[in-house]
Amino acid sequence: MKIADYKKIIDISHIIDKDTACFPGDIRFSHEIRVSFADSNVINLTSFTMSPHLGTHADSPVHIKGSLETSTQDHATDTTAGDMPLEPFIGSCVVFDLTSDLPNPGAITREMIEEKATRAKNEGIKRILFRTEQKVEREKFKDDYSYIGQDAATLLGQLGFVLVGLDTPSVDHIRAKDLMTHKILDQYALSWLENLDLTNAKPDTTYYLFAPPLKFSQLEASPVRAVLLEF
Ligand SMILES: [Zn+2]
Repeated sequence: MKIADYKKIIDISHIIDKDTACFPGDIRFSHEIRVSFADSNVINLTSFTMSPHLGTHADSPVHIKGSLETSTQDHATDTTAGDMPLEPFIGSCVVFDLTSDLPNPGAITREMIEEKATRAKNEGIKRILFRTEQKVEREKFKDDYSYIGQDAATLLGQLGFVLVGLDTPSVDHIRAKDLMTHKILDQYALSWLENLDLTNAKPDTTYYLFAPPLKFSQLEASPVRAVLLEF
């Protein structure tokens, strides 16, 4: 796979605007026009507010442990979005379509992915994305979404994957209080992407993933523009 030889770019990111759904209680996207071209005759200039977990994004380890920078503490005590290594977010990757294994939302289990994940690992692929939804509706928050079971997360860690991603708002069940899947992924130093849109990706196909987080040094997550290069 030579990067320069890619045939197509597949955008696997959500559009971010005021209609993009977010986790209950989280902050939606809003923006303000601070200078308009019409008034200034020079530029349009905006500012915006949103949760970094809105749309397609990466969580960093400080999302689930440690503390962020505060007025009395200079640095976050764990890895922020801007401190994350980039290697997990850039490189060859395989997309697995689990829509027929998961006709109803539920846990992605070890059993469902073991054979395919082991094959990918043996081919030297260290990034894996799961399609669980037939149709992604970014404007609607569905609380019965699929998530990564603890046994599947452990398997991916044991196999040495560096990144896992899926097309739902979280790697954990919506009512998981302990966020065990997040914790297992973190223990194995696996990075993860949430809210992908994999409807245009072909199943069981190897791509080149490009989805680095922004360098937000004080945030626990960052939006990513996730794309797959098709060869
Ligand atoms: Zn998140």
